[in-house]
Amino acid sequence: MIIPVRTKDSTYEVHLGENILQSFCERNTEEFDKADQIVVITDENVWGLHQHYFDKNFAFDYKIHLVPNGESCKTFDSYFDVQTFLLQENCSRNSILLALGGGAVGDLTGFVASTFMRGIPFIQIPTTILAHDSAVGGKTAINHPNGKNMIGAFYQPKEVLYDFHFLQTLPKSEVRSGLAEVIKHALISDVKWSNEFLQLESIDAIQKEELLIWLEKGIRVKANIVELDEKEKSYRKYLNFGHTYGHAIEASIGYGKITHGEAVMIGMIPALMLSEIHGEVKSGYAHDIFQLANKLEYNLQHVLNCTFEQLATFMLKDKKTTNGELHFALLKHIGDPFIQVVSMDEVKKCDDQ
Ligand code: NAD
Ligand code: ZN
Repeated sequence: MIIPVRTKDSTYEVHLGENILQSFCERNTEEFDKADQIVVITDENVWGLHQHYFDKNFAFDYKIHLVPNGESCKTFDSYFDVQTFLLQENCSRNSILLALGGGAVGDLTGFVASTFMRGIPFIQIPTTILAHDSAVGGKTAINHPNGKNMIGAFYQPKEVLYDFHFLQTLPKSEVRSGLAEVIKHALISDVKWSNEFLQLESIDAIQKEELLIWLEKGIRVKANIVELDEKEKSYRKYLNFGHTYGHAIEASIGYGKITHGEAVMIGMIPALMLSEIHGEVKSGYAHDIFQLANKLEYNLQHVLNCTFEQLATFMLKDKKTTNGELHFALLKHIGDPFIQVVSMDEVKKCDDQ
């Protein structure tokens, strides 16, 4: 299956399916043959689990650079190390980077690609459920101690290769994390799809076929929004549903100490409570999602480990906050997002509950 993504300056394809690495090589033979270097950036976990599959199916010579696992690679140090590696390997504008991993590897590699020699091509090869979101749309970034994703660029990949083979080795905690962004895509786009999740009893109950359909739908939602608004001037802000509060939780607890998706799932609950007030979302929907989060064993206790003052400080530093005004992505109805200025007091009331 192929989903096209069209932006002002580029059009690229997201290829989805099981065991599609080989066909990806056949399709891109000319491009890869022309490249002076192909560099795979991945993390130690992913490489340990998938080197064999990669080598069996990837048909070209490549250099490999390993970065620390997960969120801990989104640092200046890792960014600098990758750049140094590329220089040592005599990479040029004619080199191609492959980001093989979850959202963290994708965000780091994309940012490196956007700045090395003022920009070289890169291909996203997402290996997590969450990365159905992060690999599409061209947001790349590393973190700063003062805030998540503070240093980055909009830089689109040349292609996204979503080979479901990689998903088989995901631990349950990462399935849970990724599912939160899938649920977000449902909530901002489709009431019927959103309600399907309410029936879910546990992470283990998710069928593979069902998951693959959700991933395809999620990518379509993301691709449509990115096409309308690549640089987040308007519609793209809807994708931040659950993220203002979620990012504050992530920053308060410490990057990497809670998964991004778990923080987003927690963040969607106050966003739904505010949607019941500012939108016309039927009363009780926030509670339904809260119960779903409990059934799927998201650790909602994390909230208790942050003071509201800490969260407020981070929400004020959020990129979506201007002149101290919190701009929340909320829902008018389920599936119908809008942006609302919300006072810190209102958020505190939700937090207190
Ligand atoms: P991740 O990249 O941090 O990976 C999570 C963990 O899973 C890591 O330990 C990793 O080694 C491991 N892992 C990855 N693939 C695996 C596999 N196939 N089998 C076993 N283990 C595997 O996590 P993520 O949840 O994919 O991404 C989170 C990051 O994505 C955050 O930094 C977030 O800010 C970013 N993000 C970016 C965007 C965007 O638009 N750019 C959107 C959403 C999230
Ligand atoms: Zn997210």
